[in-house]
Amino acid sequence: MTANTSDPHIRLRERLRRVYLLRSSLGLLDWDQQVSLPEGGAELRSEQSALLAELAHQTFVSNETREALEALEETDPAPTSDRAVVARLTRRDYDRAVRLPARFVREKTEHLNRSYHAWTRARADDDFASFAPFLERNLELAREEAGLQGYSKNPYDYHLDQHDPGIDTEKVTVLFGELREPLRELAGAILESQEPADPDLFRGFPVERQEQFARLATAKIGFDYKRGRLDRSVHPFCSGDGRDTRLTTRFFPDNPLDSLFSSLHEAGHGLYCQGLPIEDCATPLGEAVGMAVHESQSRLWENQVGRSRAFWTYFGPLYREHFPEQLRHVPDDALLAAINRVSRNPIRVDSDEVTYNLHIMLRFELERTLFDGNLAVRDLPGEWNRLSQSIVGLEPANDREGVLQDIHWSSGGFGYFPSYTLGNLIAAQLWETAREALPGLEDGFARGEFGPLLEWLLKTIHRHGRRFETDEIVTLATGRPLSTAPLLRYLRERYLAPHADRAKV
Ligand code: ZN
Repeated sequence: MTANTSDPHIRLRERLRRVYLLRSSLGLLDWDQQVSLPEGGAELRSEQSALLAELAHQTFVSNETREALEALEETDPAPTSDRAVVARLTRRDYDRAVRLPARFVREKTEHLNRSYHAWTRARADDDFASFAPFLERNLELAREEAGLQGYSKNPYDYHLDQHDPGIDTEKVTVLFGELREPLRELAGAILESQEPADPDLFRGFPVERQEQFARLATAKIGFDYKRGRLDRSVHPFCSGDGRDTRLTTRFFPDNPLDSLFSSLHEAGHGLYCQGLPIEDCATPLGEAVGMAVHESQSRLWENQVGRSRAFWTYFGPLYREHFPEQLRHVPDDALLAAINRVSRNPIRVDSDEVTYNLHIMLRFELERTLFDGNLAVRDLPGEWNRLSQSIVGLEPANDREGVLQDIHWSSGGFGYFPSYTLGNLIAAQLWETAREALPGLEDGFARGEFGPLLEWLLKTIHRHGRRFETDEIVTLATGRPLSTAPLLRYLRERYLAPHADRAKV
């Protein structure tokens, strides 16, 4: 496997390939753990995963990798060439990997493991106080890590940048500041104009038929099942690479829309995986830009496409074929209204595409003040409830439905939440540009033609891998930097002027 070649680019790519094979094997073990591992295998799996993670890290930070990287840097390749991009981004990853001492990584891994278990117990008992000391330590570790990476003055920026290259506190503050009031007003206006929901509209949808339909819909939008699978797990996710992309979803007999939109969402992630340049999979050229861009792909297919009237013009009759009894008394308009229903919900993951972003702003506000030192962990539940009232518009009944609802902080995932709303902004901006670039796009959806949109995304986003940072790729794809206006325009058009949408089909 080790090459005797004198070309440092090839030598570096071979080192990165070994790292990639180890990491993707680790990913497969993780998929298996969430999909089919028997309880008895948990301990063995955790040892297997720990060893593979250690080997992947060692291989990446080894002298061989460093020497190949230095040799490539010395060739001084043309700045925009593939060689230069591979050198620059590998340098960034390499430096970040070696700056964390083994002692720190071990301590953090062990602590986060205990913290996660403390959180699951605290959530079950609705007992924030028992989790608070773990969260305090998570924050200390997160600050220490940022300090080791040279971000001791602005630790939160480090965590934002880790998820979305080029994004910092300032950028998010500006975007969320612009979005907050118009979004709150919009949510209020939609809630006022909506017909009351019928809680018995969806009952007794057989899970096997739901699964059939999820496969049919995800294949139709372009997910390639020769290079992927759909399985079941408690929490839906997508993993793997473009030759073996694993989607998971879950099915509830009385909530078929949850399963369907989770499947479309994960398929959106999967289409991005399958669209990344496979020949570069082990290098930054074959990787995703970051979480926000990944999330833009899933949200675009789930929301802009999957909740559109045009999508349902095509899929509605097929959905009825799968569930003739269950949908007999549900007219088309009631189905579409249920698909596009807005409601105030204390739980982020159960929220609609309008109010969801308010939940993210709440979390961003809290993370920012925690990192600033202006908020103490013990005051977090009270501050959560206060801000929840003023941003989301309701106060949770207890901490289980409030500050304890998300897994992220228990696992050290600070700076992750903003990616979700940034993803929604990017999705709306891409959608607006795609509709201009591809006239008749939605007429095509109504005929079951989704290829033109996927090809456009391949060309503008997928094929670039990680070559550009978050804002750069958005500007390149849409001709404008990331902004809040397209999301607001999209939501207003879809939720306040549904007749305009209808006229197009
Ligand atoms: Zn997602």
